[in-house]
Amino acid sequence: MVEDSWAASHDPLRLRAETLDAVVREWYENLYGPVQPLTGQLNRRLTEFALDRTTAETTGVLAGEPASAALADSFNSRFSLFDDARIGTADALAAEFEGSPLDDRIATATVDAYRHYRDLHADHVDEWVCTRGEMFNAVSTADQPLSKLFPELDVVVLSGYHEFRPVERRVVERLVDDLPIIALLPLHQGGQTGVDAVAEDAIDVYESLNFETVELEPTDGAGQAFGTITEALYRPDPDVISVSDSLRWRKLPTPEREIRFVARELRTELADGRDPDDLAVVVPGTEAYSGYVEDTFDTFDIPYVTTAASQLNRTFTGSVVHDLLNLAEPDPRAEDLTSLLANPLVDVVDSDLASAVTAAARRRDTVSVSPLLDDVDDEAAALIQDLLATLETLRTGDIEGATETLRRLLDDRFDLETATEDYASGAEQAVEGRAYDLVDEVLSSFESLAAVSSDLSPLALFTRAFDGVPIRVPQGAAGGHVEVMGMLDARMRSFEKVFLVGLTSEHFPVTPERPAFFEEMTDAHPRFDTGDERLRGRYLFATLLANVDALTITTPETGDDESTVIRSPVLDELQRVTGIEPEDGVDDRVGSREDLFRHVAETTDRRAAVSRAGDRGDLSPEQTKRTDRGLRCAANRGTAGLTDHDGVLAPETVAEVYPPSEREPYSASRIERYVECGFKFYADNVLGIEDPDDVEVVPTPLETGSYVHDVLERFYADLQDEAEDGVDLAAFDRATLTAHLQEIAVEELRNADFDYDGLFYERWKAELFAGLDDGGHTLYESGVKPHEAPEEGLFATFLDNERSRDGAARPHLFEAPFGEGLPDSDAGPFTVERPNGSTVSVRGYIDRVDVSRDGEQPTLTLYDYKTGRAPYMTKTTGGTKFQLPIYLLAADDVVDGDLFDQGLLSATYYQVRPPNDLKVPRGVESKFDSEAELRRFLDDIVPEWLGRIDESIANGQFHTSLLSARGANCRYCDYRRACDVRHHRKREFVDEVRDDGAAYVPLRVRDDEDIEAVMSDD
Ligand code: SF4
Repeated sequence: MVEDSWAASHDPLRLRAETLDAVVREWYENLYGPVQPLTGQLNRRLTEFALDRTTAETTGVLAGEPASAALADSFNSRFSLFDDARIGTADALAAEFEGSPLDDRIATATVDAYRHYRDLHADHVDEWVCTRGEMFNAVSTADQPLSKLFPELDVVVLSGYHEFRPVERRVVERLVDDLPIIALLPLHQGGQTGVDAVAEDAIDVYESLNFETVELEPTDGAGQAFGTITEALYRPDPDVISVSDSLRWRKLPTPEREIRFVARELRTELADGRDPDDLAVVVPGTEAYSGYVEDTFDTFDIPYVTTAASQLNRTFTGSVVHDLLNLAEPDPRAEDLTSLLANPLVDVVDSDLASAVTAAARRRDTVSVSPLLDDVDDEAAALIQDLLATLETLRTGDIEGATETLRRLLDDRFDLETATEDYASGAEQAVEGRAYDLVDEVLSSFESLAAVSSDLSPLALFTRAFDGVPIRVPQGAAGGHVEVMGMLDARMRSFEKVFLVGLTSEHFPVTPERPAFFEEMTDAHPRFDTGDERLRGRYLFATLLANVDALTITTPETGDDESTVIRSPVLDELQRVTGIEPEDGVDDRVGSREDLFRHVAETTDRRAAVSRAGDRGDLSPEQTKRTDRGLRCAANRGTAGLTDHDGVLAPETVAEVYPPSEREPYSASRIERYVECGFKFYADNVLGIEDPDDVEVVPTPLETGSYVHDVLERFYADLQDEAEDGVDLAAFDRATLTAHLQEIAVEELRNADFDYDGLFYERWKAELFAGLDDGGHTLYESGVKPHEAPEEGLFATFLDNERSRDGAARPHLFEAPFGEGLPDSDAGPFTVERPNGSTVSVRGYIDRVDVSRDGEQPTLTLYDYKTGRAPYMTKTTGGTKFQLPIYLLAADDVVDGDLFDQGLLSATYYQVRPPNDLKVPRGVESKFDSEAELRRFLDDIVPEWLGRIDESIANGQFHTSLLSARGANCRYCDYRRACDVRHHRKREFVDEVRDDGAAYVPLRVRDDEDIEAVMSDD
């Protein structure tokens, strides 16, 4: 603020803005030569090791558990206070505590820890390393006058201090002796009391040094208005001060809505030409709000930078270290590996491999890394194993070797420094750069103290050291951006307009939790106090208010978890003084593209609204074009007729993109898929759009179906003696059959091309295997929920079902192929001929054919295994299911001799649905009065329908389903958002398509016809 005001009226080069620490260091170096300051991390390590020694003792209040990071933090700041207070030895501290009301045990433990700290410092820190206290003391007691040392200094302006530590106070005293000095101190109530209570210390310092006091009154209107408010805060019985529009309080339902509100306000301000540098967002609860700020401000295109303090672990650099430490644990977790590989700063494997590992981790639903190694290729597995083996040193080696390993990994393997330098730009890059420096500082601190012995493993030491390291990015990277900052950063800054977000008691003022230990010490020795956050909060709030032209405060009604929110006590006080009331209600202004689309959706003429948004520049030309096309598509899709957007292709196009050579021979399931929905068929089979790779924890229905089919096929095929006609189960006892089925099931599972593990997979196996003799195999891990096994699973139930079936029919053929081009089959082409002479080529496998020759007439029964629900037979006679009739037609090719011509035909589904839902419904023949009717259906109707389907495809009829939404399984379709499958519309659509005449319209959807009518017409 001083810098800006100076630059507005003076030569900017004549003013240098520096922190007091930087100035003191510069002066120190001028006085005594180059210095190496004691880094915060080295200091913290000394404290940690000192506490470890104290806690390792057998007596004392700290004896016992190793010190946590939080305890080390508390002691660390306390030791700094001792240093600042020039208490440089444990004996001096003991003397300070002598005769004090402080509990002896606390005094003894603190002195003890401080003694270890000082000893470690003396033994392991180079003598040229200086603490902050030492530097400040040396400068304040320098023999030479500072004015001589720095003749270029005309005047020192001291700003931003409302409290002083003893060492700082001594430097100020020295400055006053040597140089002209101006101190700036915002006061709201003349000092000492009310909101100024926290500044009492600074006032004492300045008064004792005989500073001449000059009071500056706010000159502008906002300053005066807000000045009246800050003057009245925390005063008894003030007159109510009316507030102007420049002070607002907006209540929003949730923290997220608060940020969206602020984002809309910012957009309006920026659109009105406000310079982003004049705006700021102050967020006292930066940790809680940072995710919302990032997401929402990006969505709203707000140019912003965050300079609020954060934690090392929240940076990408910090997470690399965090993940590596977790991976060094005995049974490393998969999520730490995937997080490491997904880190944008890590480039040890290519992105395909990183995605493959992530997909494998999701699919396997595994907690630990080891099962993943089977799922990735050898090279990747070796790389991961090598990394884990390297990290083992962190657990088993000494601290020196462990630090070296971690450094080698970060520097040589990951080249983290270069990665952080190349990462993004501006503030984001600055954050990562600072994070890297911090990591380096932590590792250097361990290198300096390598000789200190510790009972803890290097991993435990690293984990504690990296826990909760704060990171602060230097301000100044904000030019041209709206700055998002914490409350403390906002002091001594001025802006035209500020949004103060989340002013709740949870976030402001925050009293840090300190061990009770230190509360007592503070009570007994006020000079070791770190200050009253409540008073500090009042002062910071008043100072912020006094420094801005307009302030908008926001509060949420509930927290993230819908918990009730209590507003900050400073807001209560503001309300008491001003009577300000929150504005509430929904904020539905348009601030982002997302908002804009919501509004457009509500208008009657959406295309006109989009075009207007394009003209105004709210949508780019590309976005306007894309949205307009989308609207046209939606409108077309919403009508009953066939339009450009309903998947209707010209026959010439079909001939090119999906020629007969590609589509034929048809399989029954492909035909059924087309009949189910032409559009989905077009997307899947013609355009080749693949389903998103869903993450599964158990085999998919397709994988389950194929596995069960294989087991059931082999069960019979392996029993079949080639000399015999069919398998007679009665020839075997149950135990033999169970062992046989079990063996096949295990073998097929081993050969299956899927691989899962985890609790849900165990349940999947249990549902199939339960009741089969184990035979020494561990088929599944039975027992506890959630994979309690049924008593009899699918295979055991199947076996019982097969054994109990009477009748003379014997299983005869299994997975019998027909048609050309099938793997493991050299069968020739199989075609179905329409009454008009044209043909459709088909192929497939018949799951099972049972034959009985006992009666007068042989019977031929075809089965199609279904691991889902068996469809109703009316779907076959309704022209939407084709499996059974196609198999019946193909049976002529598959069975020997005249069995097909002579026999009674039957075809049905065999429902084998895990865990033990078995059903064999009456076959398709039951829908006809006689064998002759069935054969006529097969010979005339089915070929005609198949022919029409082929024609329909050739005609390019790929419109959406003519079936009901349920019949087409729209619920599971990825295109459902673009489809209007409502019932009343469906009727009109079917009529339109029927009239058009080019498409196959299943009998099932034709209200005016049924199979009998069709048969009698024939
Ligand atoms: S939602 Fe239904 S009608 Fe639309 S494409 Fe999918 S299956 Fe077809």
